[in-house]
Amino acid sequence: MIEYVFLSMLFKDIPGLDAIKQKLIQTINEQRVSHSQLFLGPEGSGNLALAIAYSQYLACKNKTETDSCGACPSCVKYNNLAHPDLHFAYPVANTKAVKSKAVSKNFIADWRDLIKEQHPFFSLFDWLKHIQVENKQGTIGTDESAEIIHALQLKPYESEFKTMIVWMPEKMNASAANKLLKIIEEPPQKTLFLFVANSDENIIKTVLSRTQIVKIPAFTNQDISTYLTSKHGISDQEAGNISLLSNGNLSKALHFLYDDSNSNQNAMLFVNWMRLGFKADVKGLIEWTEDISKMGREAQKNFLSYTLSIIRESMMMTKSQNYSSMVPLNFGGFDLSKFAPFIHEDNIEDIYMALNEASYHVERNANPKILFLDLSINISKLIRRKPANA
Ligand SMILES: [Zn+2]
Repeated sequence: MIEYVFLSMLFKDIPGLDAIKQKLIQTINEQRVSHSQLFLGPEGSGNLALAIAYSQYLACKNKTETDSCGACPSCVKYNNLAHPDLHFAYPVANTKAVKSKAVSKNFIADWRDLIKEQHPFFSLFDWLKHIQVENKQGTIGTDESAEIIHALQLKPYESEFKTMIVWMPEKMNASAANKLLKIIEEPPQKTLFLFVANSDENIIKTVLSRTQIVKIPAFTNQDISTYLTSKHGISDQEAGNISLLSNGNLSKALHFLYDDSNSNQNAMLFVNWMRLGFKADVKGLIEWTEDISKMGREAQKNFLSYTLSIIRESMMMTKSQNYSSMVPLNFGGFDLSKFAPFIHEDNIEDIYMALNEASYHVERNANPKILFLDLSINISKLIRRKPANA
């Protein structure tokens, strides 16, 4: 389907973030590597890519002052994400192939595929979808903790350091975290824990307090734009439009560029939702709510985020006649240019707030039927609100 061009994970392959890269490199060159760090950056940021680049730089046998060499035996293994001293843990769930006690090593081939053949900026939803469990919760559980402890008890094979990259520690449950506290606090010699998270709010406090936080901001529009033109060969204008739409989230930008079935599903849900909303069809909205309630939590969040993008895009169209949209104007028999005027100065803020609040509550396990029905009724009222100066 998609031809991605992510071949290696050197610092130079990650757009922007120059100050952070420099700081990270400095800690290695000055031998001030903290053994337990949290790379904290929003979804679609460079947090995972930086964690890998950092670990690769630490292990590189021929590094320069600014990057790994990319060619020494250590770098070659890193390029394949197959260095024996590089370990990963990430949320997983049981599948048809892995019927019980799923742990990260069962999915390592999928993990390498996603990073190498696509890109390292993907969201949790992208990952769960990749391993075909998007309707489940991914978890880092106690079986995983046992695997982590086991991996770190071995001596490093080839490098000075062993690295354990724990992606999305937000999904680590309390008993898994408890099992790891001791090893995080006092890891075996020359062990590096790199936690890679979107939000510190949902990380178990006892783990959080044992890490040193490295804050990674969202990419700028310019970073995304440059990345898309240089690595994906699209025009400056197209790249500029996508970057505006993606709000610093590179995963989202790539989804816009390579539209997939998932956004078609979102488009259909959205179109139905708006039609029912305009008609104030409560019975229809209840049915719609039933449907979305059956989807997994990540899929629900993904839908809300999709809706926010369309609303933002509509607002841009309302504001400027000449605005050329990146979203296909017609989807599901729906004409975005006809919808856009219903989004205006007098309802946009309330709509944003309602969607953001819903996303917040989905994250916190609110009852989806109540939440989405409530939201639907609210949105139905808001889109029918007339602009004050009309
Ligand atoms: Zn190297």
